[in-house]
Amino acid sequence: MHFCRMKRIVVFTGAGVSAESGIKTFRDSGGLWEEHRIEDVATPEAWRRNPGLVLEFYNQRRKQVLSAMPNAAHLALKQLEEKFEVQIITQNIDDLHERAGSSKVLHLHGEIRKARSSIDPGLVYDIEGESLLTGDCCALGSQLRPHIVWFGESVPAMEEAILMTSEADVFIAIGTSLEVYPAASLLLYAPEQAMKVLIDPRASRDKAGKEFTIIAKTAGEGVPELVHKLLNNYV
Ligand code: NAD
Repeated sequence: MHFCRMKRIVVFTGAGVSAESGIKTFRDSGGLWEEHRIEDVATPEAWRRNPGLVLEFYNQRRKQVLSAMPNAAHLALKQLEEKFEVQIITQNIDDLHERAGSSKVLHLHGEIRKARSSIDPGLVYDIEGESLLTGDCCALGSQLRPHIVWFGESVPAMEEAILMTSEADVFIAIGTSLEVYPAASLLLYAPEQAMKVLIDPRASRDKAGKEFTIIAKTAGEGVPELVHKLLNNYV
């Protein structure tokens, strides 16, 4: 008897996959970091110095995410599950992959719609509505912080992401500048024989490596095209 296992597709997404949903990327012009300095809003030091400002920054981000909708790229990635085992690994803190219906989503950098205890990282809560406020506390009585991996903090999900990537038959990176580490190093763990694709209008072959096929299109255009090809031609 011959058993044929489903092909595994690992999709690694960055801010660019959500750009067409109206959520700003970090480094493009008009991006978030032109309006806010990383060290004021997205580091453990910023949290110690001015938690109110940090909470307000993420409250604004959360409001924006809640009003955004999944775009054609998120929806196409869900479709891939018709034929493949699909694991999404995202650097994004939004929940647009989940809302598009993707069933396996690993968040490397946290989730904007969750909060966690500032003394026990195991205590994680869903945030009801838009705001997390000064005085909102965990079960142990300490202030809740955004469930976000800040610059300078370790990335606890990295090990799991590496393992998933090392088992990929197809590895697709979408909308990422490949400048934030350790996340960007994930590309190195895709097996030699895997099909590797990078979709980004400003994709750089230097950063991705020569074994990557580059599709220099937006996610909304490039992802549905690739998904269509995989569903029809890849076995
Ligand atoms: P980045 O801002 O560094 O890079 C964005 C990339 O997306 C660029 O390479 C750009 O060319 C590309 N891009 C822009 N528009 C695109 C489109 N329509 N389709 C496809 N690609 C497009 O973002 P990054 O590489 O994800 O890394 C930076 C950090 O930004 C991550 O840690 C992530 O957590 C965070 N971030 C998340 C969100 C979100 O949750 N939606 C938004 C902004 C930033």
